[in-house]
Amino acid sequence: MSAKIISGKEIAQQIREELKKEVEEMKASYGITPGLVTILVGENPASVSYVTAKQRTAHELGFYSVQDNQPEDISEEALLELIDKYNKDEKIHGILVQLPLPKHIDESKVIYAIDPNKDVDGFHPVNVGKMVIGEPCFLPCTPHGILEMLIRSGIETSGAEVVVVGRSNIVGKPIANLMLQKREGGNATVTICHTRTKDMAFHTKRADILIVAAGRPKVITADMVKEGVVVIDVGVNRIGKTPEGKAILCGDVDFDAVKEKASAITPVPGGVGPMTITMLMKNTVQAARQTIEKS
Ligand code: NAP
Repeated sequence: MSAKIISGKEIAQQIREELKKEVEEMKASYGITPGLVTILVGENPASVSYVTAKQRTAHELGFYSVQDNQPEDISEEALLELIDKYNKDEKIHGILVQLPLPKHIDESKVIYAIDPNKDVDGFHPVNVGKMVIGEPCFLPCTPHGILEMLIRSGIETSGAEVVVVGRSNIVGKPIANLMLQKREGGNATVTICHTRTKDMAFHTKRADILIVAAGRPKVITADMVKEGVVVIDVGVNRIGKTPEGKAILCGDVDFDAVKEKASAITPVPGGVGPMTITMLMKNTVQAARQTIEKS
């Protein structure tokens, strides 16, 4: 059996079409244009490419978008002041500070400084706390994208054995939490694996849905999964360059071998990546809508 390929690219495109209409309707009915600022510190090539993609998408959807590039040596104080400026800017509904930041800046201070109502990355502890207790909030973009992909692909999560590989604050922990929630896309029985897990294959072989966010190329091989598993590969590993200098990417899953056992699988690239950016846009539209509801 060869797996159904879950195309994040196609699902993301559907959601972007929906968002485009919502933005037009918001502009026409309320005179409000969703505004997103992306703050980039330094020139890390991966960060530059992520920020460029986010800005391009915001532009395509008709947002008011600002890219604010700051030098690598900006002081923590100056960055916090900049965030405060955007917190007060009524045209900006969403603030994204591209991570990682240079070592002299405390990332958690920066995340705490963002107004939770503009925290479209969903990293502020207020939003994280609300997510855990199941209250409406901005969900972190990558886990939100995974959830949306599962729901829109008609994959049953209720009662499923879900195994998550990775326990980071941006992917592993939040997706495990979302899959536990009592609502659509949740109600799963969740296991989380990490580098201290004794026998990872014991767990991954039990998974009906396997979500891998380890950042290790091909850490999941075919002998570690059962027939019919649904695999969501979050990993993005740069394993070389094409002669034209473009990065060659691979996921955390041995795609070619695992797809022969799985019932459905996400590719890398074209899987989770496009969903992450799209959910950032969805959160920004939600942030703009909240200002309408408040007024
Ligand atoms: P991270 O912060 O480095 O966390 C990796 C997690 O995986 C850690 O919890 C680590 O365990 C665990 N891990 C690493 N190697 C393992 C192994 N051999 N066996 C079991 N567990 C292992 O990474 P992240 O930020 O979550 O990102 C993970 C991957 O997803 C990266 O490739 C990243 O580029 C990608 N990503 C993609 C998107 C997207 O939009 N497509 C978004 C975010 C991240 P310990 O905690 O024990 O160290």
